[in-house]
Amino acid sequence: MSVGPPAPGAGGRDAVGGHEGSGGPGRRADLAAALDDLRRRVGGACSAAGRDPAAVRVVVTTKTFPATDVLHLAALGVRDVGEAREQEARAKREEVLAAGGGEELRWHFLGRLQRNKAGAVSAWAHLVHSVDSARLADALGRGAERAGRELPVLVQVDLDGEEGDAARGGAPAGAVPALADHVAGVPGLRLAGLMAVAPREADPAAAFAALAALAARVRADHPGADVLSAGMSEDLEEAVAAGATHLRVGRAILGGRPPLR
Ligand SMILES: *Cc1c(COP(=O)(O)O)cnc(C)c1O
Repeated sequence: MSVGPPAPGAGGRDAVGGHEGSGGPGRRADLAAALDDLRRRVGGACSAAGRDPAAVRVVVTTKTFPATDVLHLAALGVRDVGEAREQEARAKREEVLAAGGGEELRWHFLGRLQRNKAGAVSAWAHLVHSVDSARLADALGRGAERAGRELPVLVQVDLDGEEGDAARGGAPAGAVPALADHVAGVPGLRLAGLMAVAPREADPAAAFAALAALAARVRADHPGADVLSAGMSEDLEEAVAAGATHLRVGRAILGGRPPLR
């Protein structure tokens, strides 16, 4: 699994240094133990599915958790972190870089994204998982072009069709192939694959199998779209079995977090 070994010289208590309380060495040890458990869990899921653990990347979802946690994670070998709110993510990333840590971190954006925040996200995101409309794709593409970069993005698939406050974003499955075609043609963007959150009420294995079939259909037209971002703390085994390349795991590593709103 690409959570990976600690970088040379990055381990030990001194890499973060000086922080007390939740930022201190006790927190580092707790995160190290949780990462070990998670690596074992992902390893077991890969063995059961006959998959190479190196092909499954864990994006540690650090939303609501402080920059000190991100610094601990980086020192413990984590290379991918995920955030769900633009302002929080940008401030945290700046704090991490200012502290002299995490230069090699890839910052993923996973949340619902308003078009007026798209330009900001295009400047720093390694991969945007949550493109669910052509207009959002266009806004991200414009931002990426302004930033002089190519931004890889995933089309988010809505697997449960909830509306209003319960909705977690995503395009309806039937609209995904056309949206993927659109994204592939937007200057500044690269269509990298699909993402989904398991439905609340249904069996995640069945939902992820449907997602994998949709991903295969998109890949037939866009062979480079080989990322499948699926699976969270509670359903990562089902996601690995369905072929997920990226797992987004927060609580299983960082512990409980307060509700987002
Ligand atoms: C928060 C979040 C996750 C991680 O969820 P956990 O239950 O903490 O593992 C995954 N994906 C998305 C889109 C999220 O917003």
